[in-house]
Amino acid sequence: MSTPPLNDSPTDRADPDLLVLADTVLTMEPGSVPITDAAIAVADGRITAIGPAATLRAAHPEASTIGGRGHLAIPGLINAHQHLTGDRLIRSMIPDDLEPGRSIFEWAVPAHAAHTGDDDELSATLSLIEAACNGVTFTVEAGTVAHPARVLAGFDAVGVGGTLGSWGWDVAGEPWAGDTVEDVLDRQREVQQLTAGHDRVDGWVTLVGHDLMSDELVVAASDLARAHATGITFHLSPSDSDTAAYLERVGKRPAVHLDDLGALGSHVLLGHGVHLADDELDRLLATDTAIAYCPWAYLRLGQGVSRAGRHIEFIARGGRVALGCDAENAGDAIDVLGAAALAAGLAKDATMDPTVFGAHAALHHATLGAAKALGMSDEIGSISVGKRADITIVDTTGPEWVPRSPDPVLQLVWASDGRSVAHVVSSGRVVVRDGEPTMVHRGALAVEAEQRHRSLIERANLR
Ligand SMILES: [Zn+2]
Repeated sequence: MSTPPLNDSPTDRADPDLLVLADTVLTMEPGSVPITDAAIAVADGRITAIGPAATLRAAHPEASTIGGRGHLAIPGLINAHQHLTGDRLIRSMIPDDLEPGRSIFEWAVPAHAAHTGDDDELSATLSLIEAACNGVTFTVEAGTVAHPARVLAGFDAVGVGGTLGSWGWDVAGEPWAGDTVEDVLDRQREVQQLTAGHDRVDGWVTLVGHDLMSDELVVAASDLARAHATGITFHLSPSDSDTAAYLERVGKRPAVHLDDLGALGSHVLLGHGVHLADDELDRLLATDTAIAYCPWAYLRLGQGVSRAGRHIEFIARGGRVALGCDAENAGDAIDVLGAAALAAGLAKDATMDPTVFGAHAALHHATLGAAKALGMSDEIGSISVGKRADITIVDTTGPEWVPRSPDPVLQLVWASDGRSVAHVVSSGRVVVRDGEPTMVHRGALAVEAEQRHRSLIERANLR
């Protein structure tokens, strides 16, 4: 597939000297208060100054500007669990009234099996465009990529950042035999080489997880991530089926067993962790293992988060949690602000306590709290001098912003969502302007997406 570049104007290229202007800036730094009539100066992809708009404009008269009156600037949002391939070309097609086995074996498995490298690149590009247009500048790929180089091309086409691995499992199951441990690790090492020196995308070790990893594989993969000083992510316990599988195989619950193996730690980001018992929560906290929490997926799939989820308790006890959007047939919309509102609503409703986990906490776990869960808070997650210039600029003139609340976080999380995002800066480059991606042509991609969608349905025999 080709990703046609736009005739980008000079201001859309490297933006060596950009000023983001907003009548309110939320830095999301601890203890910070909204800054009014502010500017954020950006050079060489980094934030170099935050201050009064008048002062910074006077200091940088040549700088191009973006935003201005009627805009709110927040850190680029972080999506900590997103499948960039497999679901996109059949988005919102898997019926929402199927048994879990049928949606996996009649839809997800054949779709993944028929996915080509071209499909992977297009899928990742489309997913990352949607994410970017909803204010997301950093995406953790969830661990199911067959063609990592093609997904990396998608990251580069859209201009956003993230983490990337290659999918791996070594336990045989329908319809594929599992790979050997060495084969899985070799593919992860290849991604480390592929991403070495990349300024926005980090190679992570990724496994499918669940009960599709032997003890030998998960230990070796966790050690590989440690050796490369990088992260590892895999799925665990979105429903209660992993618990049943581990109890049958090893007589222990999953997180207890993984801790006994030495596979947990601060470099580990578990996808989901919905069904966790007391001792599992204790083990995750003791090892500083983080969780990616994707509330819309659990609702769409009926996995029991409203009854069993303990993410807010985990956070209250010091656990690191980031929000995620999962997949286009599991939560479907790639909108971290929507996930933040849902996380807050679920927390309040499950406890029947309106004082817990409000919009401010939810936005924290989409920004700086998420960066901490990824072990990347030195680099992303807040608007801070020296950090990567990942900035989301919200248009506050739309109907959902009238009249303006004195608390922009309440209005952003509860009244708005990704639809309010106007412009997005990723590593200092304007990647979304006036709601449109600047580096790829959305219309041309849409035509290609319709073709590849029909072709995939045909080849995978999805009916
Ligand atoms: Zn997932």
